[in-house]
Amino acid sequence: MKQEEVFKIFRETNALLSGHFELRSGLHSDQFFQCALVLQYPQIAEKLCKAVVQKMRAEKGHTLKVDGVISPALGGIPVGHELGRVLNVKAIFAEKQDNKLVLRRAFEIKPGQHFVVAEDVITRGGRVQETIDIVTARGGIVEAVAVLVDRSGGRASFKHPVFSLLQWEPQTWEPANCPMCKQGSKAVHPGS
Ligand SMILES: [Zn+2]
Repeated sequence: MKQEEVFKIFRETNALLSGHFELRSGLHSDQFFQCALVLQYPQIAEKLCKAVVQKMRAEKGHTLKVDGVISPALGGIPVGHELGRVLNVKAIFAEKQDNKLVLRRAFEIKPGQHFVVAEDVITRGGRVQETIDIVTARGGIVEAVAVLVDRSGGRASFKHPVFSLLQWEPQTWEPANCPMCKQGSKAVHPGS
């Protein structure tokens, strides 16, 4: 799937907005991305996840071995679910407990099983790393990390290959340096 096609889908679903925004970090940006808005449409989520699997298959070919997909809750769950559908394997998730991701609900990772770690958006990659640690602590093998949008700008690095639909980082400014503020417009808070 071409980058322009992905951006078009993001805009059409209002997942990607253009304007003048104040982000939670306090920085200003001319774009705001809310991945859940594109993932609210299962048929689009499936299409995007198929494209990520195509990338994985193109690179790993017949060496790609996957017994399951695991996602950090909450944002990663629909991505993991659709990847599991495309790969024809189970999709499980890790969830927060006492501010730490844990595997609950009798979900199983058996020693030697190969897992793809799925996430919607990577920024610093902390939750993905926690999920990787859950797999390896049980003797599982992390086959790859699959994400829709990698906005880490290369800052998130893992020992495993990362497959993303899009590598993209919105431009941000300190409010004092924001060109839109300088033109007199006022930043708005996008829905979080
Ligand atoms: Zn501004």
